[in-house]
Order: sequence, then structure tokens, then C-alpha cells
Amino acid sequence: MIDPAKTAELTAKGINALGWHAVSRSEETCSDCLNRMGKHWRIDGTPIQHAIPFAWPPIHQGCRCLAIPMKFPDELLAVILAGQPVDEAIAQWQATRSRRRWSGKK
Ligand SMILES: [Zn+2]
Repeated sequence: MIDPAKTAELTAKGINALGWHAVSRSEETCSDCLNRMGKHWRIDGTPIQHAIPFAWPPIHQGCRCLAIPMKFPDELLAVILAGQPVDEAIAQWQATRSRRRWSGKK
């Protein structure tokens, strides 16, 4: 479930997406958590490139997973929402930035 107050608080800090870090103690990690590992959601809880609804952890007994607040730059979020895989989009965006840095442009 999305908590509107929490969403508002994070949005005010410039957070525009959420990631998931599943904490695994081998057999104790439930399949719900593993399914969420590495997935992203918009700050309003809309799944990005998958169909698993967002829920703030803990989502099961003994859950130690973390929802990770993310600040995607607007141009990066745009390509992700356009459908480019998140990891690929981030890698490309970082490569572009370091090229700009090396060439002295901003
Ligand atoms: Zn968990």
C-alpha cells in the first residue's frame, strides 16, 4: 500500500521513484520479496516495466527488505518510462555524463 503522507514527504525531497532491495537469508526470503528485487516504481506506486504493486516493507513476517528512494534525473526517468530497461538506461545516462565531463561541457 502507498502511504500518501510518505509519498508527499519523499516527493518534497525530490524523490521520484522507488527501488527494492531484498534482504536474503536464503530460505527465509519469501517469493514476494525475490520478485521485487531490482524492480522500480514511480513515487506514486505505479510499477515501472513490471506488474507488481508497490507495498512498503515489511511485507511478510521477518521481512528485512528495503524500499530505496531514488532521484532519477528527469531525462533519465523519461527514457525509462518510454520503456528502456532501467539498468541499461542508467548505464547509458552515466556514460553520457562522464563523456560530457571529459569534454569539459556541462
Ligand atoms: Zn522481505
